Amino acid sequence: MIEKKTGGISVNTENIFPVIKKWLYSEKDIFLREIVSNAADAVTKLKRLISLGEATDNEVPYRITVTLDKAARTLTVEDNGIGMTEEELERYICSIALSGAVDFIKKYESGEGESTKNGIIGHFGLGFYSSFMVSDTVEIHTRSYTDAPAVHLCCTADGDYEIDQSDRTERGTEVIMHIAEDESEYLNAAKISEMLQKYCAFMPVEIYFEDGEEKKDGEKALPINDTEPLWQRSASDCTDEDYKSFYQKVFSDYREPLFQIHINADYPLNFKGILYFPRINPQYESIEGQVKLYYNQVFVADNIKEVIPDYLLMLKGVLDCPELPLNVSRSYLQTNTYVSKVSAHIVKKVADKLISLCKNERERYEKVFDDIKTFVEYAAMRDGKFYDRTKDALLLKLTDGKHMTIGEYLDAAKEKHENTVYYTTDPAMQAQFLAMYEAADIPVVHFDSMLDTQFAAAVESHMGNVKFLRVDADPASALKNEGESTENDALRQLFVKVSGNDKLTVKFEALKDPDVPAILSVTEESRRMEDMMRMYRMAGGEGEDLAFPTESALILNTTSTLMTQIDGMLAKGDEKAEPLAAYIYRLALLSSRKLSATEMQEFLRESYRILGELAQ
Ligand code: ADP
Repeated sequence: MIEKKTGGISVNTENIFPVIKKWLYSEKDIFLREIVSNAADAVTKLKRLISLGEATDNEVPYRITVTLDKAARTLTVEDNGIGMTEEELERYICSIALSGAVDFIKKYESGEGESTKNGIIGHFGLGFYSSFMVSDTVEIHTRSYTDAPAVHLCCTADGDYEIDQSDRTERGTEVIMHIAEDESEYLNAAKISEMLQKYCAFMPVEIYFEDGEEKKDGEKALPINDTEPLWQRSASDCTDEDYKSFYQKVFSDYREPLFQIHINADYPLNFKGILYFPRINPQYESIEGQVKLYYNQVFVADNIKEVIPDYLLMLKGVLDCPELPLNVSRSYLQTNTYVSKVSAHIVKKVADKLISLCKNERERYEKVFDDIKTFVEYAAMRDGKFYDRTKDALLLKLTDGKHMTIGEYLDAAKEKHENTVYYTTDPAMQAQFLAMYEAADIPVVHFDSMLDTQFAAAVESHMGNVKFLRVDADPASALKNEGESTENDALRQLFVKVSGNDKLTVKFEALKDPDVPAILSVTEESRRMEDMMRMYRMAGGEGEDLAFPTESALILNTTSTLMTQIDGMLAKGDEKAEPLAAYIYRLALLSSRKLSATEMQEFLRESYRILGELAQ
């Protein structure tokens, strides 16, 4: 027989409740996670005792029931787990490990407590008390698995409590939260359902939510959670289909992921997880992944960049780290060596996966590479270690659609142009140059995003002796007939004159392609400077017309018949040499950059004039 008694939770409780309420205001929803995970723990403990032969197995299915009663303004969490005796109830619930909590309050009062905010609950064994963030009174009915009588506790938000006998017949615990007047949103079924989905979707005991709505005839109540989430299985027991449907369910993404990494790290790291490379289109979508962190199947938080580096947060996935406390503070994570080891392990696993795909499943890897390129390049730029690990899996996309690793490209190029990678950023604009490279059988890489060029610069700094050159930079020696170029002063003067730029650098080269009379080349460095300036302007800097690149050179092709003809005309004093040279110069400009409005007008006028002459 339990005697009625009353008490105050502790001398200091008047201080604790307001603090709990105030401090955790922003994360109030977690009270449900705390209460439901206590219930799940109670079931797990009972199962363990049964397996040890210390408790009898009543053969009832284990379950947690969350019941919302709007009329009574209560939210109840009931389990059929281990239960508590009167003594346990007093020890575990009525006396809080106050020494830690008192320290905390002192810190809070002196204003130092900001980083401890997330640490208080759980840290001081205050999980149960988080229910007071939304309730003014909380009742517990509990019956222990032993034959001790059932007990009832009624505790108010001021910390006053009453203990008496309970009429509970089944073993287990029922926590009845009387929702406070100003917290009525927690009487909304949709809200509770959403919170359960967020925090409890993978808890290890079946959870049923009863919101007072009548079930239709024959409709069977289903648990709201998946008690055996895929990450808990070993990778060899999971099919592609399993991974796909798990992804689609967890991330509500109808698309299929590209591939996944199932991590099962043993002692001492001891964590599990599945990371997916999602199908994204970086041109149209912001690349924002979601990596959910769990503690023994209880949701903790999203996108914790201390556990997974921010560049990997483009991935989507789940990580379950039972070694971390359920309530983790940022400052704790930042200084914890276990956390940094977990993070390093994840980076290694991701890199290993890319290498293994590239080595063993090249065709599939090439197919998905365009989708993961942004992510891989960004990660390689952000983290030198990631670059080192993945460098043999970093693919370059060629203009013909094929892919090569940087190593493969350089190997293939050995004979023609050692240590240089030629690229185009705009195959239409740079078509004339591309054609020359094609004719010389030199593969050209297609960079189709701004990140590509920045990535190239990062590769250069890692590799030291490798240079990326755009096709309109100095032509490769493989495009020229060695030792054939001859200077021609008269032609030089003519082109300087028609360009209207007396600082114009004119060079003579014997290009293998005799159909191209002249090209304008811009040094790689000055063009990259230009690109940077342009990016700066796009990012909100001063808007300006495109200036003529300073370090450009007009290359006159000595193998071109047209050039030989102009040279002949000059010798004869033919006046047509000048307009011809002017037109060729415009064409060279046109094939390397956009013409300015005036240049375009002049070019069109001149073209019509020539057409007019032809028509006579
Ligand atoms: P924590 O869970 O962080 O230890 P709580 O205040 O949430 O702190 O709970 C204190 C203790 O009360 C638990 O460790 C457990 O022994 C007991 N307890 C809480 N809820 C239950 C429950 N539903 N069934 C059995 N015991 C419980």
